Amino acid sequence: GTPLPKLWPAILAFYRDWCLIPPPPPDAARSLDEALREVSASSIASKLRGRDAVEYLLATLEALRHPHGRHGEPRVFIGTGADAALLRFRAVRVMGAVEGVIPGAPREDPILPDAARLWLNERTPGCLLATSADRVLRETHEVFLAATAAGERLAVSAARQWVDGTEHELAGAMLETAVALGRPGDGGERELVPSLGSLRRLYVGPGNAERARRDAEQPATVRSALRLVARADDGHGAHAVHPAWLVPADALLSLSRLRAIAAERGSAELLRSDGFLGPLAAGLALPGLAAERGISASALGVLLACPHRYLLDSVLSFKPREERLSLREVEQPHYGSLVHRVVERFFRAHGEAFCRRERTLAEWRRIADEAADACFLEFLREYPLAGDGAVEAQRQRLRREVGYLVRAEWDSGTRLTYGNVEVSFGYPAAVPLAVDGGTLHVQGFIDRLDRATVGLVVRDFKTGKQKAREETDVDPVVDAQIGLYALVAPGLMGGEKVARAAYIYPVAAGDAERAFEGAELEDLLRRAREWFGLARELLAARSFPHTADAKRCNYCAFQAVCGTDGAAVSQRKLAAAAPSSVAARFAAIQRATEADDAD
Ligand code: SF4
Repeated sequence: GTPLPKLWPAILAFYRDWCLIPPPPPDAARSLDEALREVSASSIASKLRGRDAVEYLLATLEALRHPHGRHGEPRVFIGTGADAALLRFRAVRVMGAVEGVIPGAPREDPILPDAARLWLNERTPGCLLATSADRVLRETHEVFLAATAAGERLAVSAARQWVDGTEHELAGAMLETAVALGRPGDGGERELVPSLGSLRRLYVGPGNAERARRDAEQPATVRSALRLVARADDGHGAHAVHPAWLVPADALLSLSRLRAIAAERGSAELLRSDGFLGPLAAGLALPGLAAERGISASALGVLLACPHRYLLDSVLSFKPREERLSLREVEQPHYGSLVHRVVERFFRAHGEAFCRRERTLAEWRRIADEAADACFLEFLREYPLAGDGAVEAQRQRLRREVGYLVRAEWDSGTRLTYGNVEVSFGYPAAVPLAVDGGTLHVQGFIDRLDRATVGLVVRDFKTGKQKAREETDVDPVVDAQIGLYALVAPGLMGGEKVARAAYIYPVAAGDAERAFEGAELEDLLRRAREWFGLARELLAARSFPHTADAKRCNYCAFQAVCGTDGAAVSQRKLAAAAPSSVAARFAAIQRATEADDAD
């Protein structure tokens, strides 16, 4: 029931704070603010309250016009069907007329799902909230209005292959357009409803033929240009290319440069295209080499798994396209961060009492459930889950897995004096760590650092698949993190020795730890110094070889950069590297392991 003069400033403030919009002009909020200022000042505006006030705002916004050019001048308007509703055009092109796009696949609003909308519609007089099915119907109508707005020419285009690489069939709107046009077939007969074959022959075919004709004259896409080159055979198998494609020789897309890269890959030497940048990249600022910027455990894991991936992702900041988040479950790395948040909250509040066993395990699990619920509630403000079912399932998942972690610590058999949780190191100045051959500067957070009678106990909580010692031996990618924490911990605790270092996994039953103690811990620390020494050398030499293990490429977003044979080429070249060189030592630690989670 908030009146318009109060409601509008609140909406405007929310819009300015939270909405990501293209930069003005036009500044729609400002235009609307100007349009409303006079109305809001009048006494009658206070009578517009709640929903009526919102509807007034919407009507005013939709009636706003941003003047651009003179009426009657030729213009191209690009927008959605809704934007074009009720406008008239000489020519209209509807793009992307494929199934699942026009109209879009029904998607529930994660904030206010369909069930909640229907519930509100039933119980609130005058409330008519649109559901996902209504949205599909509305989009269909909007496309119809856009198509019928064309005065002289209508083109409907449909890319068979969509931007994500999937293949799509023609949208129903194409068929409806064909029914309305009723083009006669070759024999002059008209089909009331054209078959798919007729649709392709009579409607899609002529469009494709026209596009091919134009591409032959002047290619508009890279693909059509390449087709032209492929066809320009001089009769002896050689294909002439436009001279501009070869100069300047070191231009990004120069064929000369691309040929040189191909030749480098074919050679036996480890060269620039293999990631061995050398003095050329001396100016590249890299973490780990100086106290100003430490390297983290997760970055070390990536560097040791595939230095080239580390170069592309962490150094050059080539980020793969972000996938849309799943609305049904909390994805990694968000889930891992959420679990860490809960564990941190639980142990910060109850760590000492928990270690003294002041309550029973069942009581601690109930308290952990409360911490999980509180963190999950906060988390829902940041992550969209669709529907009450998904929210409840993820809440239960979180409670269950946090409960497993709490139980794993309870059952571990080691009596601890509580130390701390999320212990930071290397901030603001990175910690200098003695590694084989020099010093590596590191920083990060240790999940748990406690004391037992025999020495320090270092633990890291995991949320991914368990990697038991029996199945996966000591491995640079899997164990870099716990190895680093075990090396750093004594410096944080007055020089005390680490007696045990372990990952803890949320498993329903059985051994939940991947633990190192005694001689195994000594072996881990020795190997960790060796791995990190190698990492330091790779960074210092600006050498970023591709992994030699093709399995690591399976889920890597940079396959398009490295090619499908990137690992095979690397394996061949690394095998030929001089013994004891940094390349040969990197080859020696390459082993197949599954990618670890980001927690
Ligand atoms: S595709 Fe393979 S070689 Fe290339 S960056 Fe990824 S893991 Fe490394």
